[in-house]
Amino acid sequence: MASEKEPERGGQEAPGNARPGPEPAPPTAALASRFQQMFPVLSAAEIDRVRHFGDLRRFLPGEVLFQAGKPGPGMYVILSGRVAVTGRDPLGQALPVATFAELIGATLEDMAEVVPGEVMADIGQLSGNPSASVIDARAVGEVEAIVVPPEGLRALLIAEAELGERILRALILRRVAQIEMGFGGPVLIGSRKSPEVTRLSGFLERTGIPFRVLDPDQDADASSLLARFAPNPGELPIVVMPDGTVFKNPTKTDLARVLGLVATILRSERYDVAIVGAGPAGLATAVYGASEGLSILVLEAITFGGQAGASARIENYLGFPTGVSGQTLMARAF
Ligand SMILES: Cc1cc2nc3c(=O)[nH]c(=O)nc-3n(C[C@H](O)[C@H](O)[C@H](O)COP(=O)(O)OP(=O)(O)OC[C@H]3O[C@@H](n4cnc5c(N)ncnc54)[C@H](O)[C@@H]3O)c2cc1C
Repeated sequence: MASEKEPERGGQEAPGNARPGPEPAPPTAALASRFQQMFPVLSAAEIDRVRHFGDLRRFLPGEVLFQAGKPGPGMYVILSGRVAVTGRDPLGQALPVATFAELIGATLEDMAEVVPGEVMADIGQLSGNPSASVIDARAVGEVEAIVVPPEGLRALLIAEAELGERILRALILRRVAQIEMGFGGPVLIGSRKSPEVTRLSGFLERTGIPFRVLDPDQDADASSLLARFAPNPGELPIVVMPDGTVFKNPTKTDLARVLGLVATILRSERYDVAIVGAGPAGLATAVYGASEGLSILVLEAITFGGQAGASARIENYLGFPTGVSGQTLMARAF
């Protein structure tokens, strides 16, 4: 995202970065604003380290880097040129940019363009099932970028601990902001009082998927969509996925499958350990087993976190003297 007015945002200037102003001191993590952490500008040295994990690509003016509703090819690090960004949800409604900017302490101009050195990615790209993009991103003039595929991104996070942590923090903060705004994931259309909406929204909340509920009693668009798609009350709620696909009263499993949360391909070789349940005990066992070099399969019936994921505040966990929400703790473990 562009930041003409905030030269202190990045570290060293990236090659081709034409932003004016003196070389700023790199901000400490504690002092950097949420916006700076969310949209870091990599230094030339950091960009060189990223090159090992991806390929160079050139885009012609107007060419698409990300298309809303479609999974992207991985993470981009922009080397030269600018990328215009607009967002829209599954109903084609525009990203509430002003709300988003306010939430993260940015200006509207900051939100509209990506400049050299910036990282474009979503945390979903860490998995083998990249989630659908919530933005349209197009080259403004010619753009040169490094494209890092999901496996390259995972390798980078392991091999480049400090840089990897910076990128991972940015991706986590972007997802947190999306969840806070309810932007980017499925849109649930149905009465907020309905148990079916509660069932699906509870599942999405626990899974850390951003979503929005539109109540036809309060939203005229939702009401007309319902009239079009679900004349039968038994088919409520309807769920519009980021790619525009519509589901009528789906089960949690349907939703998990279409969101790419259910692994469809298991490795053909044998695993050393199979763990049933991704609660605190299962996740800890998986991490320590893997760190000893064992291949691990974790099978979970609902979603990661177990009972702990449902806890509003856990106050007796090491390292969190003021407590931590169960979902935050479990999401870190996951
Ligand atoms: C609201 C709430 C607040 C809490 N607060 C605290 C607290 O502040 N401090 C504290 O110390 N403890 C707290 N607890 C207790 C703590 O969460 C549990 O002790 C802890 O979660 C137990 O971990 P676990 O991994 O053994 O089991 P669980 O958390 O129960 O996880 C088991 C997992 O296995 C899955 N599973 C079960 N059967 C199958 C199957 N057949 N196939 C696949 N998956 C399966 C489940 O879906 C679940 O995800 C709280 C619990 C709750 C409910």
